Amino acid sequence: MSETNTVNHHKVALVTGANKGIGYEIAAGLGALGWSVGIGARNEERREAAVDKLRAAGADAFGVPLDVTDDASVTAAARLMEERAGRLDALVNNAGITGGGPQEPTTVDVNRVRAVETNVIGVIRVTNALLPLLRRSPSPRVVNVSSSVGSLTLQTAPGAEMGPIAIAYAPSKTFLNAVTVQYARELADTHILINAVCPGFTATDLNNFRGVRTPQQGAAAAIRLATVSADGPTGRFFDDEGEVPW
Ligand code: NAP
Repeated sequence: MSETNTVNHHKVALVTGANKGIGYEIAAGLGALGWSVGIGARNEERREAAVDKLRAAGADAFGVPLDVTDDASVTAAARLMEERAGRLDALVNNAGITGGGPQEPTTVDVNRVRAVETNVIGVIRVTNALLPLLRRSPSPRVVNVSSSVGSLTLQTAPGAEMGPIAIAYAPSKTFLNAVTVQYARELADTHILINAVCPGFTATDLNNFRGVRTPQQGAAAAIRLATVSADGPTGRFFDDEGEVPW
């Protein structure tokens, strides 16, 4: 039996920003379902610590050095996935940053706004590099980890409680939502399903652990969309409650 046939028994995922927080739990959840999971992360020590912990829990996890802002790093990650698995069944674009604070529009340091390109350009860069491998899967899924703070409908709803004003982070998720829709339009005639998810306000480094949900809870929507069946949605936005308005 060839190497490819051997690995074909397992579904293969790549999760970006999987060394901690929600990304780690997405990887753990897919690993528990028997998937082989690439732990995309830029810091070697934290990446290997995450891989070791996942493997100790029985998951088929492996490290994928990855900085989503760096062309060469993303190209190398795609090559590693090709060598390791030969195809990709789910790409979870989870890596993200807030850009730091303060983020009031009238006084913001524009470099904060530039920094959050991680959340958008990073996703496009990674998705396009992995598309050839996704196209080889019988059931490819792309999940973009967005946020309800990117929902213009929710942001402008009367009385909405949408957290602090944030000219960098919130619009980066609005942009990511729009990017998700454009991919879904172009890929409509393929078997690739691409959706955005909101994990909810989750206790992670991102918000100094002020979130009210656990990282496992935050991971659930992404795991669901990464494993959704062929008649599942594409070009839509979900949280644990159902569909989120754009
Ligand atoms: P987190 O604990 O800070 O994790 C963020 C992850 O992204 C880390 O693994 C980080 O890696 C990685 N990352 C950042 N920049 C990267 C880059 N350039 N290349 C590769 N990896 C990079 O935060 P989290 O809360 O789990 O966030 C995960 C996703 O959920 C983000 O997209 C976030 O916007 C979204 N989200 C979170 C919440 C929430 O309440 N926590 C709510 C809505 C949406 P390093 O360790 O190397 O920095």
